[in-house]
Amino acid sequence: MPDDNYQETPVDRLKHVNDEIVAAAKAAGRVADGIELVAVSKTFDAEAIRPVIEAGQRVFGENRVQEAERKWPPLRAEFPGVKLHLIGPLQSNKAKEAVAFFDAIHTIDREKIARAVADEMAKQGRSLELFIQVNTGEEPQKAGVMPREAVAFVALCRDQLKLPLAGLMCIPPVDEEPAVHFAFLAKLARELRLSGLSMGMSSDFETAIAFGATHVRVGSAIFGTR
Ligand SMILES: *Cc1c(COP(=O)(O)O)cnc(C)c1O
Repeated sequence: MPDDNYQETPVDRLKHVNDEIVAAAKAAGRVADGIELVAVSKTFDAEAIRPVIEAGQRVFGENRVQEAERKWPPLRAEFPGVKLHLIGPLQSNKAKEAVAFFDAIHTIDREKIARAVADEMAKQGRSLELFIQVNTGEEPQKAGVMPREAVAFVALCRDQLKLPLAGLMCIPPVDEEPAVHFAFLAKLARELRLSGLSMGMSSDFETAIAFGATHVRVGSAIFGTR
């Protein structure tokens, strides 16, 4: 088969992404072990996801509770080590399901959600890895706590609600230099003494690693265009 007819599979692309993570970590003087690849499988079905799990990937991101609940139970039964991260917006009426189903939530961004998640974790006896989403670009249509409210919100979550905070998360505006946003989020996390940084997607995860990302959320670079 001629080379230019060869179609890269998600498993090939997973390997490239992992190699790029290792290279970006090295360039930044970091160890790749400190960087978790969250493979974003939203819109892809179980048949597309299974080979990626078989290739060794264990952490996946979904952005809708219902979609995840529909497609993941059989895969989880098959591969008990899989961890699922909710990376999309959460409504408080879905908090119960989300806490029962996911291992991490990256999108805690308002008091109502924080309280609902705290209540459900207590009720269900579960502890999830939680990230606070910061709207670093202050975009009106985008989720996330505004930067000027972040310190007070983290205090509420940590001190009052006793939430197990892993760190901060952001999605930079599409038309801006992501590095500025990653640097800002990293600085804010340092000030708040939070070690986790969920930042970087297919187009910019290497930059995010240079700025200290601990969790990169990569979809299309692995699974292809949606
Ligand atoms: C879809 C999505 C991603 C992955 O985006 P790609 O550009 O496909 O890598 C990452 N984070 C969030 C919050 C998303 O919704």
